[in-house]
Amino acid sequence: MDTPQGSEAEFIVKYRQEYYDLSKFMHKHPGGINTLKGLNQADMTARFMKAPPHSDAAMYLMKEYKVKPEDSRVPKTKARHQGRRVDNGQDSQEQEQEQQPREPEDKNNNQLDESMEHLVDWSKAMLPQIANITTCYDEWVHKPVDRPLRLFGPWYLEMLTKTPWWLVPTFWIPVIMWCAWEDIYSSWQDKSQLAVFIAYFLFGVLLWTFLEYTLHRWVFHIKLESNSGPWICTFHFMIHGLHHKVPFDPMRLVFPPLPGAFLAMLIYTPLSYFLIQPRIVLSGALAGYLCYDMMHYYLHYGNPSFRHIVHMKRYHYQHHFTHQDLGYGISSPLWDVVFKTRIHLRKLKYQLRWS
Ligand SMILES: [Zn+2]
Ligand SMILES: [Zn+2]
Ligand SMILES: [Zn+2]
Repeated sequence: MDTPQGSEAEFIVKYRQEYYDLSKFMHKHPGGINTLKGLNQADMTARFMKAPPHSDAAMYLMKEYKVKPEDSRVPKTKARHQGRRVDNGQDSQEQEQEQQPREPEDKNNNQLDESMEHLVDWSKAMLPQIANITTCYDEWVHKPVDRPLRLFGPWYLEMLTKTPWWLVPTFWIPVIMWCAWEDIYSSWQDKSQLAVFIAYFLFGVLLWTFLEYTLHRWVFHIKLESNSGPWICTFHFMIHGLHHKVPFDPMRLVFPPLPGAFLAMLIYTPLSYFLIQPRIVLSGALAGYLCYDMMHYYLHYGNPSFRHIVHMKRYHYQHHFTHQDLGYGISSPLWDVVFKTRIHLRKLKYQLRWS
């Protein structure tokens, strides 16, 4: 056993000539934590090459965990003197060579990728900076990083951009109950009303799944051109771009309740003139939304074993890191099938685990 499970213990791997500290990443690895087993303090290059190919976004993200050769976490002396976990002679030779000072940027396309992050200053508020990078915003936003994001300068504005996951059910469950209360009560009195209630409620849930797809595909992933103006890029970053840029920020994952309520009113008000039981449909749609947002959070942080959830976790990670223009469904691939944006996942011979 290399590290106690679920602990923050160090997990250092070697890849090509560089070292990476995966201790904060291993539980989030889209390819599972079990696939990293035994790699602590080891050279993972061969395993990495044999594994299913990693996307450009994944390779970009990997740089976030790189440790500088002079970092104390790099197990140089230990590995050399004790020969620990060094597989063959070739590997020790590589480590000998590392004693000579080497330029860290001499391989791959690190140079290009690093220059992208230098377009913005991560120590400053990000939102005002989006206007300066509109020409390459679309490319930049789909290259994930794992670092703290500050949206606004003033703390009182910044505070409003962070939403802990539990705020969503705390806010929405009472609203859903309030919307449906009268009808629940009357269908309790008159059992013949119960079937009607359930039917309209389920219709609301179905309506939500359609909205989930529509919003994610045509609003959150609004088409950006190289000449998209500063407002559209900033809007995109605010509503969904940031989730693709910092997918591992737990406070920027669920939809904040107040803008959510505003959006709900915006969609509900015109629809309420056409629907027969608008309040029951609304409660169903909001219940659908609540399940979606909780599920989205769980897909990012949970360790599912239920088949559908495991599938959707892999499916959503594919949307994040490989096919950003496919796989818009979060709770199910239903509308991806209808609109032909479904992602076909590889069949795995093993079960993925995340903790
Ligand atoms: Zn991987
Ligand atoms: Zn998305
Ligand atoms: Zn996501």
